[in-house]
Amino acid sequence: MPAVTLNAVLQPALETNTAVAGLVCLGWEDSLAYVHAAEAVACPLILQAGPGARAHMPVSAIGPMLNHLASQASVPVCVHLDHGKAVEECTAAIDHGFTSLMFDGSALPLDENIERTGRVVEMAHRHGLSVEGEVGFVGYADGAASAATDPLEAQRFERESSIDALAISVGNVHLQTEKSDGIDWQALAAVAAVTTSPLVLHGGSGISAKERFDLARKTRVCKFNIGTELRMEFGKALRASLADRPDAFDRNQLLSPVIPSLQVAAEKILRELHQNT
Ligand SMILES: [Zn+2]
Repeated sequence: MPAVTLNAVLQPALETNTAVAGLVCLGWEDSLAYVHAAEAVACPLILQAGPGARAHMPVSAIGPMLNHLASQASVPVCVHLDHGKAVEECTAAIDHGFTSLMFDGSALPLDENIERTGRVVEMAHRHGLSVEGEVGFVGYADGAASAATDPLEAQRFERESSIDALAISVGNVHLQTEKSDGIDWQALAAVAAVTTSPLVLHGGSGISAKERFDLARKTRVCKFNIGTELRMEFGKALRASLADRPDAFDRNQLLSPVIPSLQVAAEKILRELHQNT
């Protein structure tokens, strides 16, 4: 089926107290594995290209590639630009097959974040697409510290920018290689009490499968961004493939065995998100 918008996957998730995984894509092999995993679990999926992917491959190449995978899938797949930092980057994404945008103005003063996110929302809505915005700042393991989302700022940001999904900072941290049950449920409830949008948690790799499941069931969190956990699996599978084939030099021969390994890892994440463990 054709690639779907963010609203098309998040609104049903909101109504059924489930969440959709936004899996970070860096190339063909991982993206293909994630689509196969979603088909095996029969759940919707968000394929997302973040700054890492875009530094390696132009948006004009990765957009059509992910859109192709989405269009061939038997489940709804959304093609999402993660952490767009400039309006022009979002325009380019729309031109090249993305069906969903995140505009990240979280490092800007609130007024500027509202103004720029609002411009992206206006443009995306004209194309029938949806936009995720961020208020507060989700920090990075061994990097910039988080700034917790202020509920009143979230309320104003949501109302004035007209975003479709709201990324918040409530103890979640990017690039965590270990699980830490660090979600502040009280802070999340305070934001949820004064907003109505589907909520998004970046840094999903640092949240245990059990807590992801509970958050999906009991709160308005409808999207978890998951990257590190699967990138670690990719590294492990590629190392195993190299060790198994000491004489191989062909890229496809070395990378093909990684696809089923990544599919297994992604399937586990998707099943655990949809079924209690
Ligand atoms: Zn993020």
